[in-house]
Parts: sequence; structure tokens; C-alpha cells
Amino acid sequence: MVAPCDFVTLCESLPRRQVGLWNNFLTGIMTEKIRGVLQTCPSGVRGLTPFFLFSDLCPTLADYIQIIKMSPYRNLEEYNIEITNEIKDRFSKIIDEIGEDVTREGLTKTPERAAKAMLFLTQGYKQDPVEILKGAMFKEDYDDMVIIKDIEIYSLCEHHMLPFFGKAHVAYIPNGHIVGLSKIPRVIDVFARRLQVQERLTHDILECINNTLKPKGVAVVIEAAHMCMMMRGVQKQNSVTTTSGFRGQFEKIETRNEFLKLISSNLS
Ligand SMILES: [Zn+2]
Repeated sequence: MVAPCDFVTLCESLPRRQVGLWNNFLTGIMTEKIRGVLQTCPSGVRGLTPFFLFSDLCPTLADYIQIIKMSPYRNLEEYNIEITNEIKDRFSKIIDEIGEDVTREGLTKTPERAAKAMLFLTQGYKQDPVEILKGAMFKEDYDDMVIIKDIEIYSLCEHHMLPFFGKAHVAYIPNGHIVGLSKIPRVIDVFARRLQVQERLTHDILECINNTLKPKGVAVVIEAAHMCMMMRGVQKQNSVTTTSGFRGQFEKIETRNEFLKLISSNLS
């Protein structure tokens, strides 16, 4: 068992990432019974909960400290427990309203799973795509076209909250800076994990890259199938919607054609 003073010292000495892991751990083991009495940590470390006040409820703290010291890698999902519970209650009501029995075995955990799925699919509201790009911009003289094609996208249409999914193709012509290649798909995910229409998703990605990286040109093409057209409504299974946006040098027909030719070619 770790004494309270050891705990505060430990928290203050942890790098930010590990503080995040610690919070996640607390969220994971907090029960309904004790949630109401937990308060914000007096140590001033952001978001920490003084779990040590309930030492009899925390027999695994020492084990946890072992884990974060030993694991070379841990990938954890963190959910805000208050919001998750709010959404969970609403999903319970919906399941009940459509005539199902939310207490039957297969459905007992469904409201919570659905709540977590919804929070995952809309996590983009809390993420900053500009920061993602700025975090990996490098000075470079390269000034030919950079294309990242066939990037999978999964989003939710804002009219029906049903998925639309497909591929995005992005190109830019550097103007003194290039960006880490993985950042383009990450920026796409930030905008895709919101309630969207495909047209605005295309525009959001285009403007974000254009305004942050300030390249000589940027192009975005998205091809997607919409479940709200496939499963309901007109029920068309094979239609694909294409949207595109071009800025700077891509507004010139030759550059645009070169990009379109390259994204439709199959090099492999
Ligand atoms: Zn729709």
C-alpha cells in the first residue's frame, strides 16, 4: 500500500502521459458506489483524484505503479465517466422504446458499449487538427507534388447519424515546409470523427492544410458510400459520391490533371 504523501509525490513526478494513464486506471476501477465522494486532487495536478483517501478501496495501486513502470507500451482508451453514463442511460431508453428488452443477456452491456462507440466516433470535436500539423512541420526545399492516396475514412452523416465511408486522396505542393506523412491521415480523422456531410469534410481538410502548412497548392478528393442511402431511403447499394476541392497551383488545369492521373494510376 502506498501512503498518501507518497502518492502525491508520485503524481507530481510522473510525466504528463503517465498522469493520463493513472487517470485512466482510476476511471476503470471507480464504481458507482464511490464516484459520488471523490473530489479533485488537492495536489494541483490536473484532473487527479485523491484515491489514497480511500485506501481500503485501492488495494491495487501498488500493482498499478508496477505496471506503468514495467510496460514498454500501453495503449489505453479513456472515457469521461460522467458523459459515458449520461449517453448510456439515453441508449437504454432508445432500446426500450423500439420494443426490446434491455435486461436480456445479449443487451445488458449494449447501452454502455454504444455510448463508448459514439464517443469514439465523435472524438474529433476535442482534437485540434492545426496542432497536429504544426507538431510535425519541417523545413525542406522539396517543391514537387506530395500525394497520399487511398486513405480510409469513416465518418457519420449529420442527417441520420449513419456511417459513410470510403477513401480520401490528398496532395500538396510544399512551399518551404513539408509535413510528417502520418499527420495527413490524422487530420482527416479529426474532421471525420465528427457529425459531417461529405462536402464539408472535404472542405475542412482542404482549408486546414492550406491555412496551416501554407503550401503552393493543395488538393483533396473523397470518394464515399453512404449507409443512409444504402440501408434506408433510396436503397442504392453501388453509388459512390465524389467530392473534391483545390487551392493554389491545383486550380491550374495541368496540375489538377496530373494529380487526378496519379491518384487513378495503380503503381503496384
Ligand atoms: Zn445521411
